[in-house]
Amino acid sequence: MTILTGNGVSPGVAVGTIHVYSGSQIVPEKKMCPPGEEQSHLDRYESVKKKALDELEQIFLAMERKDPEKAKIFKAHQDIINDVAINEEIPEKILNEQCSGDWAIYTIYETFLRMVKKAKDPLIAERAADFDDVRGRLLRLWHGRNDEGLSVLEKPVIIAAKELLPSDTASMDPSNVLAILTETGGVTSHSAIIAKSYGIPAVLGIQNLFEHIKHDQPAAVDAIEGKIYLDPDKSIVEKYTKKAEAWRLEIVMDEFHLKTEASTTDNVRIDIGINIANADEKELRASEYCDSVGLFRTEFLYMGRGELPGEEEQFIIYKKVLERFGKKPVVLRTLDIGGDKTLQSMELPKEDNPFLGNRALRLCFSYPDIFKTQIRACLRASVYGNLWIMLPMVGSIDDIRKAKDFIFSVRDNLKKEGKSCGDFKLGIMIEIPSIALIANIAAKEVDFASIGSNDLCQYLCAADRMNGMVEPYYQSYHPSMFRLLKETIEAFSDAGKPISICGELGGDPLAVPVLIGYGIRKLSMGAASVAAVKRIISGLTVTMAEEMAHKVLEFATAEEIKTYLMDRRL
Ligand code: PEP
Ligand code: MG
Repeated sequence: MTILTGNGVSPGVAVGTIHVYSGSQIVPEKKMCPPGEEQSHLDRYESVKKKALDELEQIFLAMERKDPEKAKIFKAHQDIINDVAINEEIPEKILNEQCSGDWAIYTIYETFLRMVKKAKDPLIAERAADFDDVRGRLLRLWHGRNDEGLSVLEKPVIIAAKELLPSDTASMDPSNVLAILTETGGVTSHSAIIAKSYGIPAVLGIQNLFEHIKHDQPAAVDAIEGKIYLDPDKSIVEKYTKKAEAWRLEIVMDEFHLKTEASTTDNVRIDIGINIANADEKELRASEYCDSVGLFRTEFLYMGRGELPGEEEQFIIYKKVLERFGKKPVVLRTLDIGGDKTLQSMELPKEDNPFLGNRALRLCFSYPDIFKTQIRACLRASVYGNLWIMLPMVGSIDDIRKAKDFIFSVRDNLKKEGKSCGDFKLGIMIEIPSIALIANIAAKEVDFASIGSNDLCQYLCAADRMNGMVEPYYQSYHPSMFRLLKETIEAFSDAGKPISICGELGGDPLAVPVLIGYGIRKLSMGAASVAAVKRIISGLTVTMAEEMAHKVLEFATAEEIKTYLMDRRL
């Protein structure tokens, strides 16, 4: 039996056989175009492009009704095929360097793909997979091969691939996929997105996967722990068959819990907020089953575009979210650019340590016009709902006071202009230890706080959250994290000010009981975590939660805490 490990990006358990999928990629031979045949290679390139555009249109139309978000991927692929720069460079390579057409396609796409991969923004870098996918389609058509994708699957299997591309999964029947394993691919890769949206267990980033696996090989996949057992022995098969069954039951239960209100067994109500970024229809549907928007990451409105969003554009979006949530609070986080999030519309100075640099609120202080535009838009929108403004990257009381002065002066000016402003609450994110440690003082200055555990962990453990090399040092279950969480939550609770948690820990089924044990009554999370968290809360009493929260403080290492929480998992 061999055990492999990777990142479990979509939880679940499966037992079955491996289907090795080598994908639609073709690496052509490096060949020259025979003299005099350049025009025929150019014509063939044009005809292959046309066929590819037709295929993509068919896929788009078939998918548009089923899943409009995924259908958009195939529109983006059509844009890549029509890209002006690519369409200058491929013919040039055929004509000037006498390269065969397929080799020209391969190499020019490779250049673009590498360029995209280097982008600092991981969301853009992951889009290299789309260039790879389009290239695969063009080369397949050049060589006259059929597109079988994953539609050939006839029985449920565990798919093992280098990476799954959108065209691989377009025709895939998810009921035939027990689990997904890939060698590459991060949390924002297409494989991860597909796996999460279909609820398929997935372990990605498994090093040298292809050296270990064979077609039809038996395997057990534990995507909760990120482990794969190849040729598992009988006891492992039995253990994981049972675990897979229990997992399926959990999913059915979760569906039931999604629409319910979250209350513990002893009737303590826990507010469940949703984390949103784009304010699109899919996200706004959460108003039907969540108690608030617990985190609106507004910077996503600024990213991936050539110009900054203006006051009017932002006002319309904020108004839409506020109206949709009615009386329910909408926690709108002001711009959090910097660190891992860059702007296409503005060249910001390069920094050696961007996560410790001019990020978020600090950046807003140094670009007051940008900050002012956003604050004007949200204050004007406040008339339409229950607005809570939240400041990111707050490190000191000076930060809070400076931001408050700024916001209130923007409000005064709006009033002078005769524009109406509603009431709003003003709060902070607690994600820097320097503010967490004086949470009792900060609580006097603001109306509420929300703990950004993602950043709090990176600053507390001194481990860059984007750097895979220091991943073992980024320990969300570090004993210091729990101590600091306890102190912070208690400081706000003692001051009678609401405190929530909107980092990943807030939607982590293992951490939720502990957080409730420390006094948290409001959690915010991504849509995919809501049902499971509600189910866990329904099986918990506050006494149980307090006992777990207390116990966690006795452990010395993150591993010990994780083992304890896994044992007590509800
Ligand atoms: C956090 O840091 O926990 C948080 C919610 O903010 P972001 O992940 O957007 O930095
Ligand atoms: Mg943060």
